[in-house]
Amino acid sequence: MLSRDWAQRKNSYDFVVVGSGYGGAITAARISTANLDPKPSVCILERGREWEPGSFPDTPEGIAGEVRSDINPLGLHEFLTYRDISLWKGNGLGGTSLVNANVAIIPDPEVFHLTGWPKSLNHASLMPHYLSARATLDATPHHAPLSFQRFRR
Ligand SMILES: Cc1cc2nc3c(=O)[nH]c(=O)nc-3n(C[C@H](O)[C@H](O)[C@H](O)COP(=O)(O)OP(=O)(O)OC[C@H]3O[C@@H](n4cnc5c(N)ncnc54)[C@H](O)[C@@H]3O)c2cc1C
Repeated sequence: MLSRDWAQRKNSYDFVVVGSGYGGAITAARISTANLDPKPSVCILERGREWEPGSFPDTPEGIAGEVRSDINPLGLHEFLTYRDISLWKGNGLGGTSLVNANVAIIPDPEVFHLTGWPKSLNHASLMPHYLSARATLDATPHHAPLSFQRFRR
């Protein structure tokens, strides 16, 4: 297990990162591995729980019992509904990566032609980071992508 009991926390840290999803985990990893002397201490605060391998709910009933709410604040799945948008998020060590599809696709350049993207974020400027993420995750093409229902014509 990676998480430590709250009682074991130190009195202070050089950096505190809130949340352990893609954003928080990568930020903490970058700080921890930065060429700094002295090496900084880093604390990641995560409001959800850590899931032991093999304990993850993978049945409809198991998932239904893991909805985050006031009476189940450690629930794995969080659903939020607003007027214009509804959200599905993961709540736990690993963030939404706990419940996502585990797909690592580099978007087509056309995606960045849509309005709303800051100019500095484009296919070329992000490519080194896509490649870095792909290498770190050891993501490889699926051997039979056409077997997925979503790819059937
Ligand atoms: C169903 C689904 C499928 C997806 N499939 C894919 C996919 O295949 N490939 C892909 O690349 N992306 C996919 N995504 C998108 C991807 O999972 C998200 O973009 C990504 O996880 C977001 O990372 P994040 O760090 O911004 O937030 P999150 O991963 O949501 O992390 C936020 C973390 O902060 C914690 N937190 C929040 N508030 C507090 C607080 N006050 N104190 C302490 N902790 C707090 C939360 O519990 C959570 O762990 C999918 C998303 C969903 C919902």
